Amino acid sequence: MNGSSDAIVIGAGLAGLVAAAEVADAGKRVTILEQEPEANLGGQAWWSFGGLFLVDSPEQRRMGIRDSLDLARQDWAGTAGFDREEDLWPRRWAEAYLDFAAGEKRAWLRERGVRFFPVVGWAERGGYIATGHGNSVPRFHIVWGTGPALLEPFLRAVRTGVEQGRVTLAFRHRVDELVVEAGAVVGVRGTVLREDGAARGEPSSREPAGEFEFRAGAVIVASGGIGGNPDLVRQNWPERLGTPPRRMLTGVPAHVDGRMLGIAERTGARLINTDRMWHYVEGIRNHSPVWPAHGIRILPGPSSVWLDATGKRLPVPLFPGFDTLGTLEHILGTGHDHSWFVLTQRIIEKEFALSGSEQNPDLTGKSLRLLARRVLPGAPGPVEAFKEHGEDFVVAKDLDELIEGMRRLSPEAALDAGRVRGEIEARDRELANRFGKDAQLTAISGARRYRGDRLIRVASPHRILDPKAGPLIAVKLHILTRKTLGGIETDLSGRAIGPDGRPVPGLYAAGEASGFGGMHGYRSLEGTFLGGCLFTGRQAGRAAAG
Ligand SMILES: Cc1cc2nc3c(=O)[nH]c(=O)nc-3n(C[C@H](O)[C@H](O)[C@H](O)COP(=O)(O)OP(=O)(O)OC[C@H]3O[C@@H](n4cnc5c(N)ncnc54)[C@H](O)[C@@H]3O)c2cc1C
Repeated sequence: MNGSSDAIVIGAGLAGLVAAAEVADAGKRVTILEQEPEANLGGQAWWSFGGLFLVDSPEQRRMGIRDSLDLARQDWAGTAGFDREEDLWPRRWAEAYLDFAAGEKRAWLRERGVRFFPVVGWAERGGYIATGHGNSVPRFHIVWGTGPALLEPFLRAVRTGVEQGRVTLAFRHRVDELVVEAGAVVGVRGTVLREDGAARGEPSSREPAGEFEFRAGAVIVASGGIGGNPDLVRQNWPERLGTPPRRMLTGVPAHVDGRMLGIAERTGARLINTDRMWHYVEGIRNHSPVWPAHGIRILPGPSSVWLDATGKRLPVPLFPGFDTLGTLEHILGTGHDHSWFVLTQRIIEKEFALSGSEQNPDLTGKSLRLLARRVLPGAPGPVEAFKEHGEDFVVAKDLDELIEGMRRLSPEAALDAGRVRGEIEARDRELANRFGKDAQLTAISGARRYRGDRLIRVASPHRILDPKAGPLIAVKLHILTRKTLGGIETDLSGRAIGPDGRPVPGLYAAGEASGFGGMHGYRSLEGTFLGGCLFTGRQAGRAAAG
């Protein structure tokens, strides 16, 4: 199959769909090439929880949160930690993105029918000083209908474009090469892959069935990051985080293979900050895996006691949901790849959420009836399913039985039973007063001052060993790959930059393939990846449409 259009978009994930919708809206013709079957349309965003970073929104104000662009800038600077020469464009992207998140982002989405769950979540709470890492206030806005509902308007725009003859969608078309003529990218070549009935997220065959070449005035690489390719993750692993984990779970489908990044680099695009990644430390093995080593992330409330593989409590402020990368660095420093949450039934019921559209049928299905159960006793169905069927859960009537179960799950690590008991009993002793010195308990009290946390996210403080709060639960936590924060360097129009600092004519990048413009620096405030796709996809699409 061969053809030509005004623009080519590589990848039908959120960034690619947004970019293509912009090109089509401008009245231009665009071809979207996607290596996976149609069942995969939407890429990672379909699986996503649909959390979006917004600043000073009506949802925040209704929950009593006073946010501002200045506060968000302060938080972003402390989190990103820009410190490299190659942070020139990433800094500019961050500034522009903050304006977007505090400005037109919400209205632009609402015009397209996107709505938000009224309770704003508080991710990456930080726990350092005012200029350090973390969100000073809750900013995680969950799309009503999660990831699939965020995709909806862009899928609609692309489908309309197909009907009107402006958009061509070609599945099973894997780009292998960018075509360069007279120093400009003028098209792509690749392999037509054999038809495959793989369901969404499942790996599909790479058997060739033909070849193709497409030509266009602009080529937008929106092929995603490297999180589904453990070899590339290890190869790019940052020295500052120590040696890469021996064992990791994978938090993204296999199509997140990072292959296009090497192809773009060989064509003259510069890759920057490839050692910046965003992986989680609260991964659990999926009891019903879709892709290889499929892990799910627990989105934890702040009350679980976090122990390392030997039973030692993690240091301040590495409490659940406070500092993802700080915790990752600490865990790897212990010489083990796993850690433990120890909690109670009361905590799991209120504080465990699982990231992913399929793990939140109430929000994804927009079901008020199911949603009402979040405030009733009992854990949400998917959490309960993990408790029952998940390999990483231990449920016990007392601490001895719990420790025995933890040891059975990790015979290779020397879990010190005396230490576990000592940590839990000491923590519980601090609860005898309304004051005390345990910083995690202070943080929990602080969190409960926020109405949203008190309502659905943070259990009232209680002793872990209180039999009335039981049974006791331990969860073995693995490192889970997810996002890529570096990639193809781009300017604010999404134009790929070459080693000489100048745009590579005809070549653009968006979404995770560009590390979202690099705007996160080293770390994220969360909910910034989908938003990063919207913003970089929109910029690249508009610029490519001329
Ligand atoms: C479970 C889960 C939960 C998440 N929750 C959130 C959240 O709440 N908030 C948030 O901000 N972010 C979240 N994210 C992250 C977010 O979903 C992703 O960062 C984002 O969707 C990436 O989109 P993309 O378009 O850049 O890449 P992708 O979605 O990876 O799409 C890239 C597409 O390009 C195709 N492709 C790759 N190479 C080629 C090639 N050579 N030829 C043709 N096609 C190719 C791939 O098959 C794929 O379809 C979550 C992710 C997951 C997996």
